[in-house]
Amino acid sequence: SAARNRPEGVARYTGRMPSDGVLAPHLMSELSRALEREEIVVYYQPQVDVATGEVRGVEALVRWAHPVHGLLPPAAFIPAAERTGLIRPLTFYMLDRVLRQAVEWREAGTPLRVAANLSVRDLLDPTFAKRVERLLAQHGMDRNVLELELTETMALVDPERSMEVLQALAHLGVVLSIDDFGTGYSSLAHLQRLPVHRLKIDRSFVTGMIDDDACAAIVRSTIELARNLGMTVVAEGVEDDSTFMSLRDMGCDVAQGFGLGRPVPADQIEALVGVIEDRVPRILRAGVAQG
Ligand code: C2E
Ligand code: MG
Ligand code: MG
Ligand code: MG
Repeated sequence: SAARNRPEGVARYTGRMPSDGVLAPHLMSELSRALEREEIVVYYQPQVDVATGEVRGVEALVRWAHPVHGLLPPAAFIPAAERTGLIRPLTFYMLDRVLRQAVEWREAGTPLRVAANLSVRDLLDPTFAKRVERLLAQHGMDRNVLELELTETMALVDPERSMEVLQALAHLGVVLSIDDFGTGYSSLAHLQRLPVHRLKIDRSFVTGMIDDDACAAIVRSTIELARNLGMTVVAEGVEDDSTFMSLRDMGCDVAQGFGLGRPVPADQIEALVGVIEDRVPRILRAGVAQG
């Protein structure tokens, strides 16, 4: 499936990338050229409405279609991009791409919300919200079509500065999500102060929840927490149908994972959404029939 998703002429990522530290300087000068050469590509992973099986949104995930190393996952270059500051142009490149794509989907009559991942540098940039606003206007895109994901840890690096950026983004009408929820160390008091709309339960809890009661308890209480705070709750890392059905029973709103749909290039999204919206409602009906 990874091979099927590969852009033409791009070798498969072998998993043998030298560690981030070793290759970083070389990769980084290449990365800034890669942005100009359009080697940075966006994959999209569907987010499925748990109650209905509909897909109303996707998460944008960056890939580097490297001419020599093949299709590189974000882990191979995001950490170095964050250290060197290249992450800021990368974030804007991604935002520009996903908004252009969202316009295309809207014009095709299949509107989808798109979620993009932020980095800590974005949250510390006092001009960030203004620049997002300008980009939304350039694309003529409704603000609530864009979702921005941040982690608890990012928001804690400089809580006051990031709070200002987040409030400006929330004021714009952009949807804000806490990614990898449960893996950071933020207090519930801090969480409650953040102007965020969605909680994404980290996949380490979701993937294990069928076999591990502790994981299931964490998922269950996170869903309840989100509900009590008036937030939408998204489960990441849904790898099979039984996990999906128990999330449904727990009252989770949205599910995302390899068991529903893997990240794919934009031109494969419509077909993938068709497959999901055919299959998942049938699983839901069968689940209801079994009681
Ligand atoms: P994330 O935002 O938590 O994204 C979810 C990751 O989990 C993705 O990995 C996705 O392919 C993977 N995933 C989804 N469903 C499943 C599943 O069922 N099982 C398993 N085992 N994995 C699943 P990916 O694409 O390698 O991205 C890794 C991380 O890189 C992302 O985690 C995010 O933190 C970061 N990232 C991705 N794109 C960007 C970007 O454009 N900018 C920034 N700053 N970070 C990004
Ligand atoms: Mg994410
Ligand atoms: Mg995540
Ligand atoms: Mg993550």
